Amino acid sequence: MAAKTMAAPQARCAGGVPYMLVRRRVRNFNLRVRADGSVAVSAPPGAPAAAIDAFVAAHAAWVQGAVRRAAARRAAGRALELPPQPTALAQMQALCARYFPLFAASCPGGRMPRVAVRDMETRWGSCSLRTGTLAFARRLCAMPAPAQEYVVVHEFCHFAHPDHSPAFWAAVAAVLPDYKARRALLRAV
Ligand SMILES: [Zn+2]
Repeated sequence: MAAKTMAAPQARCAGGVPYMLVRRRVRNFNLRVRADGSVAVSAPPGAPAAAIDAFVAAHAAWVQGAVRRAAARRAAGRALELPPQPTALAQMQALCARYFPLFAASCPGGRMPRVAVRDMETRWGSCSLRTGTLAFARRLCAMPAPAQEYVVVHEFCHFAHPDHSPAFWAAVAAVLPDYKARRALLRAV
């Protein structure tokens, strides 16, 4: 069972705690409960699996508490007051229309992109070059306006830069020099 590849995580269970073990060049065992409630443990490549299991089992009570807290945070996030779908769509269309003139040259066909609002959990927005569509998470509408503007500009910039290269970020900064502070508003939730 020795992990030959450093990168491939291994699913294990100890003390009633299912967890993903990742081997990496760390000095100690590190235990982390992610926002989605999953448990990740990193350990040095040579550490015996039994010792890692024992470490996890010894912290089982703490882990279970952290998993419960993560679930409570997710439930609170879902309870955010979200506008109904048509309202959210109208809001995002208006915001995109405001920024479109800055990006018209890079939009497919030079036309205003189709705007969609979806109940996306893991992303704030997406940009499809193929269909010329900008899609936004409905929960973005409950975020502060400067953060909404940042996501709109971010997705518009993907028409010219489909990656997150330095050129992409330069394009974002050209429109919103304070984009980092705006982005931080999204991370605070
Ligand atoms: Zn992006």
